[in-house]
Formats: sequence, structure tokens, C-alpha cells
Amino acid sequence: MNRERIVILGGGMAALTTAFELTSTPGWEEHYEVTVYQQGHRLGGKGASGRNHERFDRIEEHGLHLFYGFYDNAFSVMRRCYEELGRPAGAPLATLEEAFEPHSLIVFEEQSEGVWQHQPLLFPRNSDPPGLGRKVPTPAELIPIMLQFLLDLFDEQPALRNGSDARSRSLGVGIRVLRRGVARLLASLRELLAAPAENLVAVRREELLRRLLAWSAAVFRRCEPLLAQQPEIRSAWAAVDITLAMIRGMIADGLTDQDDVDWLRLDHEDFRAWLRRHGASEASVRASTVSGVYAGAYSAGREMGAGTALHWTLRMLYTYRGAIFYKMQAGMGDVIFAPLYQVLRRRGVHFRFFHRIDRLRLSADRRRIAAIEMGRQIAVKGGADYEPLFDVKGLPCWPSEPLYDQLIGGEALRASGESLEDWGSRYPDQEPPLVLEDGRDFDRVVLGVGLGVLPALCEEIVADANNPRFAAMIREITTTPTVSSQLWIRDDLRATGWHLPPPVMIPYAAPLDTWADMSHLLSRESFPEPGGPQSIAYLTAAMDDDEPPPIERSAYVGYAARQLEHVRAFTAAHLDASAAHLWPAIVRPDGALDRSRLHAPASKGDPLAFQHFSPVQHPSDRYVLSPRGTTRHRLAADESGYENLVLAGDWTLTPMNLGCVEAATMSGIRAAQVLTGLPIPMHDDWLRGRPRAPASSPGPLYIERGVNESTSPPYDARSSVMVAALLRAEPRRLRDLCARHLGLHEDRVYIPLGPSVVFYAQDNRLLSAIDAPGVVAERDFGFLVPVAICERRGGRLEPLAVGAYTPYLWVDLGAALVGGREVLGFPKGHADLGFEATASGHLALHVDAWLPPEGGGAATPWRHERIVEARDAGEGARETSLLDALRASHDAAWLGAAGLDTRAQVRLLGLAADSLRTGAFTMVFLKQFRDAARREIACYQAIVEAPCRRIGAPRTSARLPRPIELSVSRRVGLASTLGLVGEGGDERVRLRALASFYMELDFTIGVGEVVTPRSSGASRWVS
Ligand SMILES: Cc1cc2nc3c(=O)[nH]c(=O)nc-3n(C[C@H](O)[C@H](O)[C@H](O)COP(=O)(O)OP(=O)(O)OC[C@H]3O[C@@H](n4cnc5c(N)ncnc54)[C@H](O)[C@@H]3O)c2cc1C
Repeated sequence: MNRERIVILGGGMAALTTAFELTSTPGWEEHYEVTVYQQGHRLGGKGASGRNHERFDRIEEHGLHLFYGFYDNAFSVMRRCYEELGRPAGAPLATLEEAFEPHSLIVFEEQSEGVWQHQPLLFPRNSDPPGLGRKVPTPAELIPIMLQFLLDLFDEQPALRNGSDARSRSLGVGIRVLRRGVARLLASLRELLAAPAENLVAVRREELLRRLLAWSAAVFRRCEPLLAQQPEIRSAWAAVDITLAMIRGMIADGLTDQDDVDWLRLDHEDFRAWLRRHGASEASVRASTVSGVYAGAYSAGREMGAGTALHWTLRMLYTYRGAIFYKMQAGMGDVIFAPLYQVLRRRGVHFRFFHRIDRLRLSADRRRIAAIEMGRQIAVKGGADYEPLFDVKGLPCWPSEPLYDQLIGGEALRASGESLEDWGSRYPDQEPPLVLEDGRDFDRVVLGVGLGVLPALCEEIVADANNPRFAAMIREITTTPTVSSQLWIRDDLRATGWHLPPPVMIPYAAPLDTWADMSHLLSRESFPEPGGPQSIAYLTAAMDDDEPPPIERSAYVGYAARQLEHVRAFTAAHLDASAAHLWPAIVRPDGALDRSRLHAPASKGDPLAFQHFSPVQHPSDRYVLSPRGTTRHRLAADESGYENLVLAGDWTLTPMNLGCVEAATMSGIRAAQVLTGLPIPMHDDWLRGRPRAPASSPGPLYIERGVNESTSPPYDARSSVMVAALLRAEPRRLRDLCARHLGLHEDRVYIPLGPSVVFYAQDNRLLSAIDAPGVVAERDFGFLVPVAICERRGGRLEPLAVGAYTPYLWVDLGAALVGGREVLGFPKGHADLGFEATASGHLALHVDAWLPPEGGGAATPWRHERIVEARDAGEGARETSLLDALRASHDAAWLGAAGLDTRAQVRLLGLAADSLRTGAFTMVFLKQFRDAARREIACYQAIVEAPCRRIGAPRTSARLPRPIELSVSRRVGLASTLGLVGEGGDERVRLRALASFYMELDFTIGVGEVVTPRSSGASRWVS
């Protein structure tokens, strides 16, 4: 039997889920042989924990870990694992339910005038068991759930339940106003939302948004006087305000129109900025509930992609099963990784501990992983398999240090004090290196190590010019070191002065902004009774890199030890400055923690030194962040760029994209799907079947030279003045134009919205680009065609967005010419642009472009020629009626002929209304480069789309009092290409605008995405 040899590198949640799902497929053992390679003595990675036998078998975690109630995939894996494990009834943690205890109290911390205040929130429970996931509600279905949840949340809080027994009359009034308001809003929205989601078209959407805005303004007016004095009202209002902003944002950004939302679409913006844009107040976006989302993802003080953070927040709050959180009832290693190890081992998966992966090598043709170089850290006596677990009170557990007596030279290793989990360990490898070779030792490789170590292991891949996406992923997706400290306290929680039930607290004072009481773990440890500790506190946070993190192993020597000292000092400072607010009964008069209240043997000196501190001692352990604009750089399991390399880890593209156990589990399921080709189920897999950019990249890494002005989006324009004229155009010409310029893929279709084009002139006074400091002033004039961006699905055209294709465009600045053309594909020309415009109607615009002479000899110079001239039509001139203007911008018969059925047209109307209201639309570009030898050939051609969005409301927005009149040269062919309908002779066509507008506004153009690259023959637009 020829079994495929699957080698899994690393033993974290992602890697072990891959092994678990692969070996859950029927008959797997006939097809695969699976081996997991793990450095050091234990599995778990960022989730690893160990028992310190020398210190009463206490649990020592890499970091505090909680499961969220919505972890459908992680709970499903663990549920199946526990069932197969089959521990006898009465054994410790025999079932999933015994291993995970629901937890509902989150204490948010608010600072008011420099004083911290507890804001406890008890989250309602429900009877759904975790890990038996139901379908996740669509955004439209979520709206009533979100409002009902607010009411349930109020009911759950003694302080908010009933206004009548509130501390003061004004608090009671405030509570009643909020409660009644939310209940009325819910009732009125229910009726609007009763129809199917697809009918949430423009009119109803507008009505919803109008009601939401009016409601929140009215309630805010009534609550405002109370906000300063009543912390309960302040936090309740923040919860209401953020909920409403999320609802408004979901409606306005069209998420409620879709069953299957593309959350990545919002990731170019920071979550807080997105909430602000949808009406949340500054106080609310800074409130602890929102800060808690950031701190929970180790992103305090950083940005997070709005789509990822919103999706996470919605799942966390509204789709949890049972309880919002679950606390593990032993160490994470004992609860997760020991059962997974035992089940996988029983199934026949091989584990090779003490194997450190050093390097992946590519084949000569750079299509495959040719070899994997490993260091063999130490050998097991008698050549046997290492047995990694030991028993603590009847529970199989990982030790904090290797079980030395199984190892050859184990005593010497112990005596050295070195850790084989330290990337910079000085302990020499005890065995010769091992090189696994493609075809001889393995057929496919799963890369399951953490992101932070990839630059060291994958040097050849990062440098592979054929695979720039891998290098971009490593460059763009960032990681942070974390700190974790565990304290064993001699007093029980109540005796420390904490007066609430055991909490999870987030976000409290920096530097250790998260605290969870973990006293329930005492019964699993072996401290003496009496005389042992009575409570346990876990503290954690992200920290800044105090020195650039080294990558090479040799440079890492000593790094972990320095980090440990750093974490100790960090913790000491935190306990001196901030313990009094948590544990007022065990602090000294100066407010610092009384360290004698920490449990430690009398002989051990400073009791703080006896506690557990966990620094990042391996680059793989760095927490993976989700800053805005980065998810698009994530690679999916099958996008490594090599035939035999599959990716798994919380850094890959998954439906979650956030550093958490659920994302790691999803990535493991995806990797198993790729390996087996089977549709292994995954809950909330909204990415499945979604069109993506091609897996292989079309070119090598861009060479930065620093002087070629090729700035990249996002571009931000502040204080821009814009004049726009709607012009009549011939339908046939526009259709031809779209088909010829944008018809690169039969499934992505661009249809002109109506028989009209827009001439616009923009004076951008403060334009900035993401990768270049400072601002430039630039003018942009052009013609754009409003289009419906559609996707062909099962024979139907489905409108996705309203867009604008700009076939002609001029700028007056060289830098603007290069940046926009090169990166996005703006078809920019260089021109002198005359711009005089006022809201009162005075107007004089011109485009003087450089053109070659029509006749004359070779020595005749190019000259400036007036291509376009625009003026106001003068006193007495009247514009076309608005109805005529509307008819020109939208034509049902025309859209029907183009293939949009009635449902699609209704949806398109909704999208257009949204776009007008929010000022957000998609810019469409034909990006192309001419072949060097054959000028009629494009050597590269692609359709690029980029979001364009108004920032806030326009400062001024008005219809001009008199229409614009244009005179357009026939010389360059733009009048005929656009089918401009006007009068005039051979030289120029003269037109009068159907409607003319003046605006002063700020806007932003986001990062572009290649949606349909042109390829020879077969489509590379994969699904
Ligand atoms: C402090 C902290 C707290 C967290 N808290 C939570 C939480 O409360 N809830 C939650 O859901 N998520 C939490 N997370 C995130 C969660 O831990 C991770 O998302 C998840 O564990 C990642 O799993 P992974 O398999 O992708 O990667 P990892 O866990 O990093 O696994 C990588 C594996 O590769 C191995 N490896 C690395 N390099 C090598 C090498 N050179 N040779 C051999 N093996 C190697 C590692 O030892 C490990 O086994 C937290 C993370 C941190 C850092």
C-alpha cells in the first residue's frame, strides 16, 4: 500500500487540528501516514502549558487563555476529541462539559477624572451547548437579535434592571429612557425587517437609517445630562451607541443585503474609524467595551481591520452558545493538547519531539519544497518514543520541563538550566541533524509553525522572486510580544478586597491590562492544605518590542533571558502602581501590593520571584495581529505557492483572521480540506467558494528606489473642491466602451448605469499617500462612466456595487501621474488644468493637454492644446429638469436589455441610493502596460477595483445655479468614444450639462484589488 507521507511541522492548535480532521476522514490510514515534528518536549505553541512539579504541580501557562462561547469549530473538535478519548465517568475532566466551565462576568474598567471604576457586565446565558453550531445569522437577521440582546443585558445587570430601585431618581429616569427607547426601536424595526433580507432595498434601508438616527439623537438628548454623573448610564449609553453604530454601518455598507458577507471588504479601515463614520460618538468609541475588543486581540493602542473586528464582535456577542466565555478547568495543555495528543497517537499519528525545524529548502525549479532541515535536540533512551505526559491528581498533564529521565543525557540538560523551547538555547544538539527529502521522506508538508519564526525557516521562500505574495505576507502581517504573569495569593478573592464575583477584567491600567481570577484551578494543583495559596490571578497584555526581535537563532541567544527580566520588572511596577484598585485589602499604605501576601516558601526571598512569568522565548510565540489593510496579504492553506506545501496557523487566511484558537482551528480544518480534497465541514465558512485573486503572483518583488514618486493607496484628500457635470451620452458607445475596456472576464460584468457620463474637475489641496509623509496639492479632471459592477451567478447577473470607470483623466503634477497610473491604473495624462469655481456659479475650467502635432516635420514640437473647456452657461440659462437628469443616469429598459432582471435592478437601485447617501463607491480601472516590441499588445492587463469614500459629510454640496457648458475637442477621439451628445462641427463638440454640482469635501481612495487579470485562454479568476 503506497500511503502519502504527510509531514506536519509544529504542534499548535492549527497543526493538531489538521492532523485531527485528516485522521477523522473514513479510511484515512489507507491513504496517509502522518508525522508531527515538534521542538522541545510539548505541544501547544502559544497555548502550551506545563505543570511545575517542583512547585506543587502548579499550572504554568504561556498566557491566559479563554474560550469564547462562539468557538463552534474549536469546541466541535474538542467535543469529538473528548468523546473519542472516552475517559471513565468520575475521572478528572471526563467530558467536554467538565473541562470547560461557562463564565459570564466581564468587568470593564473606565477611568473618570483619573480614577478607575468597575463596570461589571453580566452576560446573559442561553441553553445552547457549545460546539454544536447552528447556522450563523445573516447581518439582517442579526439586527433584532442585537437590540433584544441590549434589553437582555439590561435585565441581567442589577444596576440597570429596574429604574425604580435605582440609587437616585435621575439614574432611574435615565435607565427607563434607555430601556423604553430600545424596546420601542426594536418593535418598530421588527416590522421593517419582517420582509426577507433581499428586499431591504433603498427605501426601507433609508427609512431604517432615518429612524435609527432620529432615535439615537432623541435618546442621547435625554441622557446627555446624566452621562457625566452616572457611570452606569454612561456605560449603558456607550453599549447602545456602539450597537446602533454597528447596525447603521451594516445597513449603510450593504452588509444587510447579503447572506454571505465579505468581511475582508471593510478591513482597509480601522474598526474605531468605521464606528465613528457610522455615527458612534468619540466617547463611545473610546469606551471600555470597544477598548476591550482591541485589548482582547492584544491590539490596545493599535489599529484593527474593521471587517475582522466587526465580524469578531458580532460573533462574540450575539452568537455565543451557553456563555460568552468558558474557563478551562486545568491548564490549556491539560485540557486541549493532552487529549488531542492522546487521541491522535491512538489513531496512529507519529509524534517526533525534540525536533527543531531549521530551514525549508526549495527544489531547483522552485515549484516544490525539496528538503526540510532539522536539528535533533536530544535523543530518547533505547530509541523509544518520548512519552510526554505525567499524571497530576489523575489527570494526564504536560510537565513544564522535559521528563529528563527518559532522555539520554537528561541530567546534564537539567543541570545546564537551558530550555530546548528557547529559540536561542545554547544547549548543543545532541544528535546529528536530520534532513527530510521530498519523495524519499515526505510527499506533502504542512507548515504549522507560528508566523514569527517563518522569516528564519523560510529564507529561500521569502527570497523567491516567483512568489512575492509570501514575502508580502511576512512583511505586512505583524506580530507582538506578550507578557503573562501568574500570581498565587495567600488570601481568597474576597479577602483581597475584591467585592464582586470572580471576574475577567479587561481593559485595566497598562501595562498589564487584563486580569482573570483563576482560583478554580487550585484544586487541580498540589499545594499543601492548609498553608497553600487561596486564590490565583492571571495577568496579561501585549507589550512593545523593547529591542528589535532577532530572527536568526544565533542572534537569539540571551534574548529570552532579557525578556524574562523585562516581564518581571513590568509586573513589579504594575503591582506597585495598580494593585490597590483590584485588591485593596492586600496593599501597603502606599498602595503597592504587599508582596508578603503572595504565596512562596519562606526560604525563597522576594515572594514575587516565586510567581510565574512567561516572556516570549521563541519568535513563533509572538501574537499575530490584524491591523487594518493586512488581511488581504494573508495566504490561504492552498496558497503557499508550492505544490507540496500546505499552510496552517492563525496567520493564514481564514474566515476569522484574528489571533485566536478558533482561527487556528479553522486554518487546520482548511489545511485538512486541501490535503484530502474533501468538504470537511467548517462552521461559518463564509470564504468558501468566494472568488479570490489568483494563487500565483504575476511578477517579482517591486524594486523600491525611493525617487520614482510611485506612492501607494490609501490616498486621503482633504479640503477638495469638486465640480461635476452630468452629460448625455450615446448608449451604444458606452456599452461598447465598457465591453472593450472592462470585459476581461465573463463572470465579472460592468454595465453602464444609464446613457450618461460625468465630467468632473477636482482641486485637491491636501492630498496624502499612505507610504509617503506630507501632502501635495494636485488637480484632477476627467470623464467617468457610472457603472453597475455585477457578478454572473448561475446564469443571473447579481449587482455587487455601484462603480465609476474613468477612461479619460488628466492631472497637473508629475508625482500624481506616476503614483496613480502605476499602482491602480488611472489612465492619467499630464495637462495644464485651469480651475476657477465657486458655489454661487462662477466657473472657468480648462484642460490643456500635451499633444503631438497633426502635421509638420519631425522637428515640430508637441504643444499644449485645449481638449476641454467648461464655463457656466451665463445668466438666464436653465438646467434640465431633475427628472430628465435622473432618466439619463438610470434606465430600466437599458439595464433589462443588458441582462439585469427586476430583482437585480431593485437591488441596484438600493446600492445606488446607498452610494449617493454615503458617498462611497468603487473605482474601476483598466490597468495596463504596453509590450516593449509590439505596441499593439498589452504585456499586462487587469481590472483593478478600489473603494472610494467620502469622509464625513461634504462641507458644501449644492446644485450649481446655472448649468455647465462644455466644449470638447474631437481631436483625441474622446467625444466619439464616450458618445458625447452635443452640437458642433468637425473641430469641437459643444454640450450643456443635464445637472451641475459643486462640492467641498474630504475623501479617501483605498487599496486596490486585482479582480480579473487577463490571461491567455483559461480564467485565472478562481473560485
Ligand atoms: C499570551 C497569549 C494569550 C492568548 N489568549 C487567547 C485566548 O484567550 N483565547 C484565544 O482563543 N486565543 C488566545 N491566544 C491566541 C492563540 O493562542 C493562538 O491564536 C493559537 O494558539 C495559535 O495556534 P497556531 O497553531 O496557529 O500557532 P502556535 O500555537 O504558535 O503553534 C506553532 C507550533 O509550532 C511549533 N514550532 C515553532 N517553531 C518551531 C520550530 N522551529 N521547530 C519545531 N516546532 C516549532 C511551536 O512549538 C508550536 O507547537 C493567545 C495568544 C497569546 C500569545
